[in-house]
Amino acid sequence: MSEKTLNTFEIVQQQIKDACNALGETEEVFEILKQPKSCIEVAIPVKMDNGETKVFMGYRSIHNDAVGPGKGGVRYHQDVCMDEVKALSAWMTFKCGVAGIPYGGGKGGIIVDPTNMSKGEIERLSRAYIKAIAPVIGDQIDIPAPDVNTSPQIMGWMMDEYSNLMGKNTPGIVTGKPIPIGGSLGRFEATGYGVALMMREAFKAKGETIDGASIAIQGFGNVGRFAALYAEEMGAKVVAVSDVSCCLYNENGLNIKDLYDYVNLSVNRNMIKGFKGAQDELNRDAVFGFDVDLVAPCALENAINSNNVHQIKASIIVEGANGPTTPEADKVINEKDIFLVPDILANGGGVMVSYFEWVQNLQNYYWSFEEVQEKQEVKMVKAFNDILSLMETHQVSMRVAAFMMAIKRVADAMRAKGLVK
Ligand code: NAD
Repeated sequence: MSEKTLNTFEIVQQQIKDACNALGETEEVFEILKQPKSCIEVAIPVKMDNGETKVFMGYRSIHNDAVGPGKGGVRYHQDVCMDEVKALSAWMTFKCGVAGIPYGGGKGGIIVDPTNMSKGEIERLSRAYIKAIAPVIGDQIDIPAPDVNTSPQIMGWMMDEYSNLMGKNTPGIVTGKPIPIGGSLGRFEATGYGVALMMREAFKAKGETIDGASIAIQGFGNVGRFAALYAEEMGAKVVAVSDVSCCLYNENGLNIKDLYDYVNLSVNRNMIKGFKGAQDELNRDAVFGFDVDLVAPCALENAINSNNVHQIKASIIVEGANGPTTPEADKVINEKDIFLVPDILANGGGVMVSYFEWVQNLQNYYWSFEEVQEKQEVKMVKAFNDILSLMETHQVSMRVAAFMMAIKRVADAMRAKGLVK
């Protein structure tokens, strides 16, 4: 067990403890939530292309199912381990609680480096994994989804394998599927669209408007590019965008639609470098230092840390990435009274539209792109306002308020079931 993963699990337990304390929750609620309800380990034999059989270790954890079935991705990575899967499943309980969707938390993973495997080997591994965990999942029990290194195609194989095992079409067993087999329209854009909605609501909460506001975004991948596109559509001036290759700046606002087309067509492997519509092309780390109204870290963990937090001039931060702010930087942000919309709320659009995909699968009736986005907007704005009012009532940061909201929903459900006093 590595120290890094032990820490991840301890961090989650501390967050649960802090939120329980802030809410004045009972010790028994903490005792239930401090670990997952169940976590299984499976050994998965896979026939490799060279004819040899290799055994991979896989996991599936359900943290809590008081509100509804478990929900969470499956990660394929060489650093996966049981403690990490447990911690990530707990975070999913809170993410679903914050989003106000009727799910508990789940997470899965396989210790594997898929970059060294053929497509056929990945398909056989994915089918064998779903077969191995079939006894503990189900469309009313625990519903997997994509995560690091797992794609819609992999979800398609998993859904097919599970349906074969059950002897009936079971599209609701996984989300993030390709559209022709029950994937939802709007899922691809959902996380970035949600981030833009949270930007708009943050301005509103401060008595300001996104229309004409200046924004800097770190990351131009799935989250960053849609956050930028929708923010521009809402009237914002996206003056800076960075990715791994550089940081682009234009004081009048970059043309995001053009930049989107540029990276899609770019021979430069999806990178923004070389885009002609920028005044300056700077080092990627310049992105947080501009005189803007809002910054959105949408790339990677620990992006805002004690080294760069003092450069930030914006009065709003919206966390599109998972864990982009270190605890030390978080303290500075609170002291500077910067309005921060935490990751657990800001990037919850993905899991929300996964929930919509599952609802569509269960009723076998499919919604238009516009319908999906309308429903996402209603639910995310409600989540934002509920958490804002908890924040104001308890005089805590939005991050603490978000955890409190999630714990409260789960504790209320456990109480209604008679599991705790
Ligand atoms: P992605 O791989 O599509 O894009 C990542 C982007 O970050 C790329 O543009 C890359 O160039 C850039 N980047 C990497 N290192 C950088 C650096 N040092 N400086 C500046 N830019 C850098 O990933 P994504 O799906 O957009 O996810 C981004 C973050 O959002 C991750 O933390 C992920 O866990 C989180 N997230 C994603 C989703 C989703 O639905 N995709 C949902 C919730 C959370």
